[in-house]
Amino acid sequence: YYNENTVIYLDGKFVKANEASTDLYSQTMHYGYGVFEGIRAYAVENGTQVFKAEEHYDRLKKSAELINIPFDYNVQGLIEVTYELLKRNNLTDAYVRPLVFCDPNMSLARPNNVSIMICAWEWGAYLGDKQLRLTVSSYCRPHPRSIKIEAKVCGHYVNSILATNEAKDKGFDEALLLDSDGYLAEGPGANLFFEKDDVLFTPQLGNILPGITRATVLELAEELGIKVEQGLFKPEALAAADSAFYCGTAAEVIGIESVDDKKFPKAWNETLGKKLKDAYSKRVRQPKAVQEQL
Ligand code: PMP
Repeated sequence: YYNENTVIYLDGKFVKANEASTDLYSQTMHYGYGVFEGIRAYAVENGTQVFKAEEHYDRLKKSAELINIPFDYNVQGLIEVTYELLKRNNLTDAYVRPLVFCDPNMSLARPNNVSIMICAWEWGAYLGDKQLRLTVSSYCRPHPRSIKIEAKVCGHYVNSILATNEAKDKGFDEALLLDSDGYLAEGPGANLFFEKDDVLFTPQLGNILPGITRATVLELAEELGIKVEQGLFKPEALAAADSAFYCGTAAEVIGIESVDDKKFPKAWNETLGKKLKDAYSKRVRQPKAVQEQL
C-alpha cells in the first residue's frame, strides 16, 4: 500500500506515510467509531478523474453525521486534496481511502475533535476478474435498529471480515449476507443484482449500504432500457435466477458463477450483468463533462 516515497494527506498537510503518526487513545482504534470511504480514480483522455468524487465525499459527511462525528470539512476542498494527493504520488488509476477518525478520548461520548487522513494506492480488481463462487453466510448483516446501516462505519466491517473469512475457509471466493429477516442483503463489500427473464432485481435500501456503484448501475440500466425491480427478495429468488453479479467501487461489476451448490444457467457473456459491466467500464473512463450530458 505504501513505500518510503508515499505521501498521505493528514489534517491539512501532506506528509510521508511512513512518518505520519497518530494517538493510540482514539475511539476509532478502540471501538471502531470512525467513518471512511472507498473511491476509485481512473485515467481518462484528459488526465485523471476521481469517479463520483462528490457522491463519495457527500456519503463520508453523511456517515459522520449519522453517528454524531463532527464533520467540518468542505466536500469540494476534499476533492481538490484528492487530486493533489494523486498527483504527488504519481497515481492515475488508483484507489483512494479517506478516513475520519477520533482524536484522543476514551469515553463513549461523542467526540469533540476528529482527524482526517486520505491515502491512495494502485489496486487492481478487488475481487479479481473471474466469476465468483459465493456461499450464503451464517452471519447476517447488522440489524438497522442496532447501527446506522447506511453509514460506512469502521466497526461495521468486523461483520464483513467475519463473513469473508468464513467463506474463504469453506473454499468459496466470497460471502453473501442476508439481513436479519432472511432477505438477500449484500456482499461484505459489494451490492447484489440478479437477473430473471430479462429483468434485474436488487435488494431495496434499508438493510444495505447505499452503494454508489449500485446507483450508477441503476442509471446505466435505465439508459440501456433494462427493467430493474428493487425489493425484499428471499434466497430462493436468487436460486431461481438466470445470472447474478456484485458491484462496488473496489470490485466494480463482477459476475457471480454460483451460490453454494447452485450454478447460474446463463453464460456470463449473454447476461445483463456483462452488458452493465461493459457500460460501467466505459462510464468510469468518460470525462465528467461527457457523463453529465448523458
Ligand atoms: N456494501 C458494502 C457493505 C460495502 O462495503 C460496499 C463498498 N463500499 C458496497 C456495498 C458498495 O458500495 P460502493 O458502490 O459505494 O463502493
